[in-house]
Amino acid sequence: MPELPEVETIRRDLAEAVVGASISAVEWLDGRIVRGALGPEALAARLVGQQGAAVARRGKFLVWQFASGSGLLLHLGMSGRLVVVPRRLHVADHPRHTHLVLALSSGHRVRLTDPRRFGRVAWLEPPAVVPGAMGPEPLSPAFTARRLAAILAGRRAPIKAVLLDQRRVAGLGNIYVDEALHRARVHPARPAGALSAKEVGALCRAIRCVLREALADRGTTFLDYRDAHGQAGGHQARLAVYGRAGQACRRCGEPILRVLVAGRGTHLCGRCQPSPTESPPPRPLPFGRPS
Ligand SMILES: [Zn+2]
Repeated sequence: MPELPEVETIRRDLAEAVVGASISAVEWLDGRIVRGALGPEALAARLVGQQGAAVARRGKFLVWQFASGSGLLLHLGMSGRLVVVPRRLHVADHPRHTHLVLALSSGHRVRLTDPRRFGRVAWLEPPAVVPGAMGPEPLSPAFTARRLAAILAGRRAPIKAVLLDQRRVAGLGNIYVDEALHRARVHPARPAGALSAKEVGALCRAIRCVLREALADRGTTFLDYRDAHGQAGGHQARLAVYGRAGQACRRCGEPILRVLVAGRGTHLCGRCQPSPTESPPPRPLPFGRPS
């Protein structure tokens, strides 16, 4: 699933193509990913003639914002791709699983494909913002160790589950949660509220570093993710734990484990990230008694 670095990469590419351009035609091949009050036909009627003003991102959502103040909400689900097709690459047939093709006044086309159909598209009335409450953006100045500590305080759920919850922190998914927890040396099953202040600080820094590095590499591609030029990301070669079960930890050499935490396949190093049950914190000895 595309996470923050992948969606942000697509946002930047898409903005280059659509800001200032108008939508000249809308073609639905499969309207089942449309959500909200407007169906595919009504949505198409609203879209034609809209001029792109900006492309915004919130968590894993994109909003194609129009000069009119309205917007198009886009979520790529598990396997969605949003590709800008230049005029010279136009072909008569669209690839399999194409849902939507938007023709632009510039001659480009924006094509949405989604084989697994977990993605969604919806019309947004002004002010065209992503509906629903969401946690802070981890790359924004608002995401501080203090803010993260407040998010985690008192929570008994595994730290991994809390970081995956978009209402707590926006934009993280399975890949970057595993990477950040490894970097911060925190076991994914630790109760979120049990992390020390030092660990929360390390985790906050780790989340930001991991996301920035992945963004610099234009995202991680395992199967489906492509940027808006149709190219794979480059970060998969630099992952520390995700997808590396059985391979040596880059820090200590121990084989990377794959376990189930919060119902998700989870990658970790048993030495760098000690389990809360296998190595309980040392208990202070009772005063005055021999040990
Ligand atoms: Zn290790």
